[in-house]
Amino acid sequence: MSYDVIIIGGSYAGLQAAMTLGRALRNVLVIDSGKPCNRNTPYSHNFLTQDGETPHAVAAKARTQAERYPTVNFLTGKVVGAEKGETLFSASTDAGELFEAKKLLFTTGIADVMPAIPGFAHCWGISVIHCPYCHGYEMHSKPTGIIGNGDAGFEYAKMISNWSRDLTLFTNGAATFTHIQAQKLLANGIKLVETGIEQIIHTNGYIEQLVAGDNYKLDALYCRPVFKQHCSVPQTILECNITDDGYIKVDDFNRTSVAGVYAAGDCISPLRSVSTAVFSGTLAGSFINRELIDEDF
Ligand SMILES: Cc1cc2nc3c(=O)[nH]c(=O)nc-3n(C[C@H](O)[C@H](O)[C@H](O)COP(=O)(O)OP(=O)(O)OC[C@H]3O[C@@H](n4cnc5c(N)ncnc54)[C@H](O)[C@@H]3O)c2cc1C
Repeated sequence: MSYDVIIIGGSYAGLQAAMTLGRALRNVLVIDSGKPCNRNTPYSHNFLTQDGETPHAVAAKARTQAERYPTVNFLTGKVVGAEKGETLFSASTDAGELFEAKKLLFTTGIADVMPAIPGFAHCWGISVIHCPYCHGYEMHSKPTGIIGNGDAGFEYAKMISNWSRDLTLFTNGAATFTHIQAQKLLANGIKLVETGIEQIIHTNGYIEQLVAGDNYKLDALYCRPVFKQHCSVPQTILECNITDDGYIKVDDFNRTSVAGVYAAGDCISPLRSVSTAVFSGTLAGSFINRELIDEDF
C-alpha cells in the first residue's frame, strides 16, 4: 500500500505529526521501534497538562488520540532502508517489509552514548540528569555534581547554580578553564575536582556516592553525554546533510537537504524537551501537508 507520508519514529514528535496529518485527512504510516530517549526516566516534567506523568503515559495517551484518526496507521518495527524512486519513496524494515509514500518524515530522535563510568548508565534519567528544566526542580538545593570542563562546563555549572548552591564540578581530567572562569567558579562556591571519575555507587539508579579519588556524597549529577543520531538512514542511505553538531539539517519548513524528506524533534535540534518535540512535529506535519496541497492543486 502507498501512503501520503511515512513517519519514521512514533514518539512525541512523530505522534504529533501523525495527528496533524490525520486531521488533514492524509494517509499516514507511523513506524516505530519503541525506544524513546527518555524511557529510563521515572517522571517527565515541564510539559503543560502532563507534568509529573511517566514518559510512557504521555506517549500512550498521545498514541490513543492519534489512533482515533482513521487514516493514521501504526506499525512496530525498525526502518533500516529508504529509497527515492521516480515519484515515491520507499522505506524498508528489519522484518523485510516495504512501504511507499510521497513524503518521508524522520522523527527518530537521538541516542545518548553512555560514558564508560560504572554505574552511570544505571543512574541515567533517574539521578544522573542532563536538563535542569526537566528534573532540576526535584533536585533543587541538594548536593549536586556536574561533569563538565572548559567553556561548555563553565556555562553548564553557571546555569545549574540557579537550582543548587551545593555544587561540585568534576572535570574528569585536568581543568581547562580560563583564569577568569576559575575565579568565578571559586567565587560562587563551586568546588572543583580534577581527579578522574572511577564509579558511581547507587541504589536502583539513585546515587549514593561518586568516587573520584575521594568519595563524594551527591543526590544528583548533571552530564550531557555525547550523542549520535538514533537512526542512521537519513545520513547514510538518503544522504541528508548533517550539521556540524550532529543534527539532521533542516530549513525553516522542516525540509532536509533531500527534496521530499522532512525531519522533526530531537534529531534536528538541541532544544530537547517533550514540548519542543511536539511543537516541531506540528510544524513538520503542517509543512508536509502544505507541500502535498501545492503539488495537487
Ligand atoms: C533521560 C531523559 C529525561 C528526559 N526528561 C524530560 C522531561 O522530564 N521533560 C521533557 O520535556 N523532556 C525530557 N527529556 C527530553 C525528551 O524526552 C525528548 O526531547 C523527546 O523524547 C524527543 O522526542 P522525539 O519524538 O524527537 O524523540 P524520541 O522520544 O527519542 O523518540 C524517537 C522514536 O523514534 C524511534 N526510532 C528511532 N529510530 C528508528 C527507526 N530506524 N525505525 C523506527 N523507529 C525508530 C525510537 O524507537 C523512538 O520511539 C528527557 C530526555 C532524556 C534523555
